[in-house]
Amino acid sequence: MVRTNIAVLGAQWGDEGKGKIVDMLTPHFSTVARYQGGHNAGHTVYVDGRKFVLHLIPSGILHPGVTCIIGNGVVVDPEALFKEVDELARLGTSVDGRLLVSEKAHVILPYHRELDVLSEARRGERKIGTTSRGIGPAYEDKVGRRGIRVCDLLGDREALATEVRENVSARNRIIKDSTLDWRPVFDQLVGHGERMKPWVADVSLVLHQTMAAGKSVMFEGAQATLLDIDHGTYPFVTSSNASVGGICTGLGVAPKAIGGVLGVAKAYTTRVGEGPLPTELTGELADRLRETGQEYGSSTGRPRRCGWYDAVVVRYSARINGLDAIALTKLDVLDGLPEVRICTGYQTPWGQVTEFPADLRVLAAAEPIYETLPGWTRPTKGATRIDELPAEARRYVARLEEVSGVACGLISTGSDRNETIITPGAAVERWTSA
Ligand code: GDP
Repeated sequence: MVRTNIAVLGAQWGDEGKGKIVDMLTPHFSTVARYQGGHNAGHTVYVDGRKFVLHLIPSGILHPGVTCIIGNGVVVDPEALFKEVDELARLGTSVDGRLLVSEKAHVILPYHRELDVLSEARRGERKIGTTSRGIGPAYEDKVGRRGIRVCDLLGDREALATEVRENVSARNRIIKDSTLDWRPVFDQLVGHGERMKPWVADVSLVLHQTMAAGKSVMFEGAQATLLDIDHGTYPFVTSSNASVGGICTGLGVAPKAIGGVLGVAKAYTTRVGEGPLPTELTGELADRLRETGQEYGSSTGRPRRCGWYDAVVVRYSARINGLDAIALTKLDVLDGLPEVRICTGYQTPWGQVTEFPADLRVLAAAEPIYETLPGWTRPTKGATRIDELPAEARRYVARLEEVSGVACGLISTGSDRNETIITPGAAVERWTSA
């Protein structure tokens, strides 16, 4: 068992394959903790050919004996949580004694979903492309200091009744002609509290005690750096801090607790939802990447927009998160292409840009500056050693490391746990060999 606590987070716009990486690294950790987001995340994991899609519970739950934590930075839809717990039980995995939910996590209320849909409709052409699961409105209530937390479901009933009454009447003012009754909402929340009770804990304390006992923790990010509310492509972002800073606030752990950071990046780029994507491809090549990579949202089924690897993005991610290594996924999806490209900078009407811009007008006008490298005909699919890769694929990876400024500690060559190369001597090998 290693002693380093590491963060595994998305280095691009999400869907990088974090689920597989977290899942395969989990046996080296005692605990996996999620620090932000809600059930808008979707991790697809294949174990022995069986498909699991997890939205809220860390995928570490598929490993017996591993404790899984949902931190205070996560917004919890109790019904979504129960559905996942029931589905896991049906597939033979029990969460009993292994799932902890922060007492400080905010609760997604039934009408947050409605507010989400309404807010998207009001934005018209400028819609964000949310999953309409109430995540954004729940975070709005949190920041607006009217949110309801998990501990509130278990505490004083009178106080909860007052909170629910006020929240529902505020909602009725927002939604025209709405006369939602607060009572059923209250009753439902009390019921949810009862079922959640055995899982509720002071997770900051649990994590502190776990680490003090010399056990290691993996901090699991949802969504990704470019979707971070502060550092992402605002406003086309998620409502939480998906980058490394979210770990401290979203779990109640100190920065010193984070011993290493692994950024998961695809060997190309995808994005679901709206917002600029400089390396976006259209036509045959985009279709080919989408079909080969099965680039359809695991939460919503929406087709993902696809493009070449953007080193400006990953370099930026490396800076924001202090990446020690990249876990490069889906290299096999590029198998058989006559050539592959890496974006190293942007040409814009305001000049050449090599650092990721804050102003979306700049990003929207950005023309990628590409380096073109030869593709490879021999497949990388399933490779487990770096020397099994065709020379052109190795060259692509080496160049991508150079321009991104971070080494690949792990290369994924297929969706199965075993289809993975751990780079000798790099950070991931150090973290996992002890
Ligand atoms: P996540 O949210 O970052 O975990 O990403 P998703 O689960 O939405 O998407 C990742 C998808 O890619 C899943 O279906 C994985 O099984 C699959 N996947 C992960 N790594 C690889 C890989 O190296 N090659 C291929 N072909 N598929 C992969």
